[in-house]
Amino acid sequence: MSRRTRKVSATFGSRTDVGCVREHNEDSLIVAPPLYVVCDGMGGHAAGEVASEIAVNVIASNAPAFPDATALGQAVEEANLAILRAAHEGVGRAGMGCTCTAAMIENERLVIAQVGDSRAYLLHQGHLQQLTRDHSLVADLVESGQITPAEARVHPKRSVITRALGSDPHTQPDLFEINVETGDRLLLCSDGLSSMIEDDEIEGILVHTADPQLAASQLVNAAIAAGGLDNVTTVVVDVTGFAEVRRKKIARKTKVTAALLVVLLIAIFGGAAYAFNFMTTNAAYLAEQDGKVAIYQGVPGNLLGIEFSHLVEVTDVSLDDLQPGVANRLKGDGLRVDSVDDARDLVETYREEAAGREEVPAGEGANASSGASSASSANAAGSSSAANASRTSSAASSAGTANAGNGGAA
Ligand code: MG
Repeated sequence: MSRRTRKVSATFGSRTDVGCVREHNEDSLIVAPPLYVVCDGMGGHAAGEVASEIAVNVIASNAPAFPDATALGQAVEEANLAILRAAHEGVGRAGMGCTCTAAMIENERLVIAQVGDSRAYLLHQGHLQQLTRDHSLVADLVESGQITPAEARVHPKRSVITRALGSDPHTQPDLFEINVETGDRLLLCSDGLSSMIEDDEIEGILVHTADPQLAASQLVNAAIAAGGLDNVTTVVVDVTGFAEVRRKKIARKTKVTAALLVVLLIAIFGGAAYAFNFMTTNAAYLAEQDGKVAIYQGVPGNLLGIEFSHLVEVTDVSLDDLQPGVANRLKGDGLRVDSVDDARDLVETYREEAAGREEVPAGEGANASSGASSASSANAAGSSSAANASRTSSAASSAGTANAGNGGAA
């Protein structure tokens, strides 16, 4: 039997056993969410096995994709005709047949198509309820008040069924459409379970066994412990309904969100690493090193002891040759430029300025002090060689120095 399994809102378990007396297991079952079927074969000499197997194969092929009672009923009717056809063609034995309880469940909707005395039960809020009505002689006798349910369990004709697949081409299943709730539990079983143990015992096992597979197995164990006079088959389906759908939806969203977060973090860290690398391999700055102007590649500072720059070279330009403002910056945070080449260009400028100042004659230095570019040039003019100027007017020289200094600072 093959059927493509769809993702549905249920968890389930199942087990079938030959029991303690029978030589063959003539029960067949389908557990292919959202479809679950139990068929109990009859006909003797293993013919019942053939009939129940034909039934499950035909139902698996013809069942609708979603719970639809009418369509499921039609699949069961097809199974009935297929068994009749097979018997007519000499497959199995004439008169072979089977019961059939077929259920489909999705979210909180349950549909059932049923023929014979295999049952569907629903455990709702801890209470077991038989959903299907047995098509059997004793069920008719109980309903007409001729015998009690207790008497039916030991009635000599308790195995006589009044409707089965394989006996009449016009046989139609009873159809049920039921709204179930999350937390409910569906049980399908052959009469090898329901004839061997009481409903109270079935209820107790279903209530106290959380795992559906274990529950299905425990039910079979109980039937065997009670004598196992018949083949016994159980299918237990937990209704997880919309809660399960919601859980899967949230799980999907969480996965997508986590993936996006990972991508975002990779982008942030990747971008930061790229920017840091770009900065440290392209940027440069000038700083003081042993009284000289030094060129560094990168940016000033460090993180956890990791420096963001390295020394490229210590130039021959002394900080004493620079304007005081520039020298102070180099002693402090450094003077940032775009590249090492720019740093070298700037150092060259300083070098030329310093050389230019050394070449300026003393007398011109005083005159030029009003427009001079550095305080040191003005100092040189006023202190070393402009003796005449200082002798003739020390006040003028001081004023010139002060002006020069202001000019240089500006
Ligand atoms: Mg049976």
